[in-house]
Formats: sequence, C-alpha cells, structure tokens
Amino acid sequence: MRSLVSSLATIGDLTAGGDSTSARLARRASQRRRLLVMMGLSYTADTLILLIFAFAGTTSLATGLAFLSCSLLTLAAFAILSDTHINDRFKDHHLLLPQISVSLLLMLTFIYIAPEVAIVFLCSLFVIFAFGSLRATPWQTAISWTIMTAGLSVLFLATDKPIAMPHGSPIERFATLAAFVITIGRCMFVGMFSSALRESFYNQGLQLKEAYQRIEELAELDELTGSHNRRSIMKALDDEIMRSARTGALCSVALIDLDWFKKINDQFGHPAGDEVLRTFAITMFANIRGIDKFGRYGGEEFLLILPETSDIEAVRTLDRLRKIVADLDWSTISQGMAVTLSAGVVTLRPNETGDSILARADIALYQAKHSGRNRIERG
Ligand code: GH3
Ligand code: MG
Ligand code: MG
Repeated sequence: MRSLVSSLATIGDLTAGGDSTSARLARRASQRRRLLVMMGLSYTADTLILLIFAFAGTTSLATGLAFLSCSLLTLAAFAILSDTHINDRFKDHHLLLPQISVSLLLMLTFIYIAPEVAIVFLCSLFVIFAFGSLRATPWQTAISWTIMTAGLSVLFLATDKPIAMPHGSPIERFATLAAFVITIGRCMFVGMFSSALRESFYNQGLQLKEAYQRIEELAELDELTGSHNRRSIMKALDDEIMRSARTGALCSVALIDLDWFKKINDQFGHPAGDEVLRTFAITMFANIRGIDKFGRYGGEEFLLILPETSDIEAVRTLDRLRKIVADLDWSTISQGMAVTLSAGVVTLRPNETGDSILARADIALYQAKHSGRNRIERG
C-alpha cells in the first residue's frame, strides 16, 4: 500500500528540470492517466455500492449502470483530451477545475435522479474535495465549493426530493456502512498520497541543496590538486586582509613555487608532473593548520595564507614545509625524482592591499630562486 502511494506520488510535477520537452509532456500525460485510473477505481467502488442497493431493492439496477456509464464516459472524455495533449496548452494541465466541476455535477445530478441512495453520491463529494485539495489553488477550491453549495442548496431547499441514507434492511445497512467505510478509506488514501508527495518534495529539496553545495565547492576548487583555485584563494586573501584590518590580527602570506618544474615535466613526463602537483598539495594539507588557506595561484605556483602568524613564525613554518617536501620519497612517482620548493614569505602591513602583499611575496620568491632555490626568503 505504502509503495503504491509512493509510486503514485510521482503524479505531482516532481522531476526537476533537465529533461527534454517531449519527455516532460509524456511524463505529464502518464501522470494524468494514472489520476484518471484512480478516479475510475473510485467510481467503480461507488457503482458496487449502488449494485448492492439495487440488490436490496432500494434503487433500480439502472441507477448503478447509468452511474457507471456516465462516470466512465466523463473519464474517457478527459483521457482523450489528455492523449491529444490539449491539456498541455493550459497552465493547469490536469484541468483540475473542469474535472472537479464535472464530477460535482455528476454527483448532484445523481442525487436528483436517485435520491433514495443519495448517501453514495453525498459521500463521494468528500472524495472529490480530498482529491482536489492535492493540487487546487485557493481560487479553484472556492469556485468548486460554491458550485457544490449552490447545487446542494437547490437539491435540499428548492426540491422535496427524499434525499436518503437507507438503513431499513440489513443489506441496506451494510451498503450504507460500506459507503461510509469506503469513503473514509478513499480520503485516507488521498491523505497518504499527499504525505508521500510532501516527502518526495522534501527529499528532492535536500538533493537539490546537496547538489548546489557540491557545485559551489567544485567552483572553488582546483581540479587537479583539490586545493582552492585562484579565484577562491584570492577571495580568501581579501577576506583575511579585511579581518586583519578589523581585528588588528597578524597575517602572513607565502608564495610557493616548485623548483625546476619544467625539467621535471621534461624528464619524467607531464602525467608525472601532475602527480607531483597532487602529492605536493596533499603534503601541504597534511602539514598546515585548519585555519590556514592553501590554493593554486597558477601552474606550479601556490599561495599559503597563514592567519594570526608573525613573520618569524611564518618563515619557520615555511622552512618546515620546505624540508618535508624536500625529504619526501618522490621516487614512488618516478625513479630518481626529487622535488623542492622555494617561497617568498611576507607579513601584512597596516592598510596593505592584496596586490601589494602579493607583489612583495613575488619579489621575495624571486630572491629565493636567485639565491639557489630550495629556500625561503622573507620580504
Ligand atoms: P623555477 O625553478 O625557476 O620555478 O623553474 P620552473 O621550471 O619550475 O619554472 P617555469 O616557469 O619555467 O616552468 C613551470 C612549468 O610548470 C612549465 C609548465 O609546463 C609546468 N606546468 C604548469 N602547470 C602544470 C600542470 O598543471 N601540470 C604539469 N605537469 N605541469 C605544469
Ligand atoms: Mg617553478
Ligand atoms: Mg613558476
């Protein structure tokens, strides 16, 4: 039962965009078909109760057969509209208001024609409104309620029809009981269907949120190394400069460049060079603090932001990192490989901009290269 309700929950327009128009139209048509099948089952239940009343002699057999024919004809008309995709021209492709209105008129007409078994049709009004509440707008609900109220007012006040709830014989009592029980069951089913729909919406919302977060993460990461990309690390630098300006906290920045990287590519191949970049990034992440920010500035050049770090501490940190990288067993990537880094380390001055601190770090890096590489220079 639960899985039936869940599968029916796909009747709502739940699938997120991304599929083609024809696939979307086909999906909508199949949703409408399933709704019509559900309505058909509901009308069949009403017919069965009418047949029991016919058996009890409360009404004629013709009542049940006429009701079944009229309801099936109505459903067939909507099915044809749906299959010819005329529905798709309307914003409400389920044609909810027309369907509710026709169903209401059908029930009101049968209360007029067969008032002796009116209870069956009165009960069905609840089912119609329960179904309507799944998708109806406040306006559609107000219009359909008005149609129903006007119709019932005419039947109850302007006619003297013996609108009945038969209970004279045991069979009649059974049929009336069945009308109530089946109506409550149908309303419960719609309630379960509605909560399955809500759950489905909720889950889809969560999936969308996760996908959005993932997109945001990917947009900030460098594909090869998994570190921040240039845009992201530059933003982190600006943020840190602003934070330092606000709080007066120290902040150091290191521009790190791998030594002779072109030679590494030439000697061991570009894929090995890529592997070096990845291994270098992993090594850095494993040896920096959680508050530090590390990102790829471009090629084999990286930026390390060290918040709340003085120049002396920064140089010490960078020298520790330099040693770790130099001592790493790079031969696991390629026999005979050695990798070292050089870095220019600077500490933020009052009112300094990102461009200025980077320019100073670049000069310090140039000095480190000029002085023989595999070293750290303070700018
Ligand atoms: P220096 O010690 O002066 O920094 O010398 P270098 O060879 O490291 O510097 P150079 O700027 O001459 O060369 C950098 C090389 O880095 C050239 C480029 O092909 C390589 N490179 C840049 N990005 C990538 C990448 O994503 N993967 C690989 N494998 N190589 C890259
Ligand atoms: Mg280099
Ligand atoms: Mg370089």
